[in-house]
Amino acid sequence: MNESENSFDLSELIELRKTIHANPELAHEEKNTAERLTRFIKKFNPDKIIERIAGNGVAFIYEGNKNGPVILLRAELDALPITEECEFDYKSVNNGVSHKCGHDGHMTILAGLARKLNENKINKGKVVLLFQPAEEIGEGAEKIINDKKFTEIKPDYAFALHNLPGFKKHEIIIRNNTFAAASVGMKVELKGKTSHAAHPENGISPSDAVADIIKKFNSVINAIKNENFDFGLVTIIHVSIGEKAFGTSPGYAEVYATLRANSDADLEVIKSKCVEIVELIAKEEKLKSEISWTEAFPATVNDPEAVDFIISAANQLKLNIKNIDSPFRWTEDFGHFTKTYTGALFGLGAGKQTPQLHNPDYDFPDELILTGINIFHTIIQNILAEE
Ligand SMILES: [Zn+2]
Ligand SMILES: [Zn+2]
Repeated sequence: MNESENSFDLSELIELRKTIHANPELAHEEKNTAERLTRFIKKFNPDKIIERIAGNGVAFIYEGNKNGPVILLRAELDALPITEECEFDYKSVNNGVSHKCGHDGHMTILAGLARKLNENKINKGKVVLLFQPAEEIGEGAEKIINDKKFTEIKPDYAFALHNLPGFKKHEIIIRNNTFAAASVGMKVELKGKTSHAAHPENGISPSDAVADIIKKFNSVINAIKNENFDFGLVTIIHVSIGEKAFGTSPGYAEVYATLRANSDADLEVIKSKCVEIVELIAKEEKLKSEISWTEAFPATVNDPEAVDFIISAANQLKLNIKNIDSPFRWTEDFGHFTKTYTGALFGLGAGKQTPQLHNPDYDFPDELILTGINIFHTIIQNILAEE
């Protein structure tokens, strides 16, 4: 640790975190959050700012004097549709919306990193601090990568961290290859024909089909397991049949399920099995079926070289490292970055007693801000020293 790290003043960063926390915005609505960050980071003289990438996304670029690797660090701009159950003076002012995934903290870490990069200029290459919209609904990362404005960035390395309650504070949680699962939302629509409830035989009710689909979906993973399959899960999320009208036999139904697996290939296997089930049952029951997919997250697959940079940085900072045996079941749209670039996502322990992510009483622990800044900065220094 050098002197500037010891004397790094966190008060303005904590204040920024609390202001962002108090003013959360949902996916695709993060305009004010992006503007607030732009005002804050402009003070730290980025060489370039690219605004409105994939909607509300914004990137701040620090350039060295010589050519060198381009290193991207990502934070997420969006909050969640959850009513906050915390009583503190920076409680969310937006009803039903709150930062319950700690994205306020992740943004603050990158804002602090901007200050650090202004104080310690890099001699070569580029560092890109990317604030991405719409992570929670799995849309932002892919949109960023496909945005014309992003094509000029083309990172050689991409990193992101996520705070993780349930792990010791400041611990670095890492894994080679798959770190977080792949998932997708499946929406099944079944169309039959309504009829008088006294004469259901005159219509086509989807009720038997819905019952069959639920049963088959709940056992679909067992049916696949023999085929050299790692991990899979199909979770029924929502079901509706007809209207709440006692005189009418239903003619329409919907089944929502979330499918997940440890690899994109395994997820494809589950998807096609589920489609097969729906089509077969719909045919038997003389129903029309329609299937659509939403909120698709690829698996986040970590590159071993990028993982090595994280582990070296953690060792230098004397942080505890936890290698996890199996990937996390949750998903992260950073998988789009690791699919396209050499990169890795790692966890930053948020404390064993801290409420879980997406819980209404969760709040990002401010002690993690400096750890986050330091690990990113050390990764950057090590990459630039090597190349
Ligand atoms: Zn989340
Ligand atoms: Zn998150």
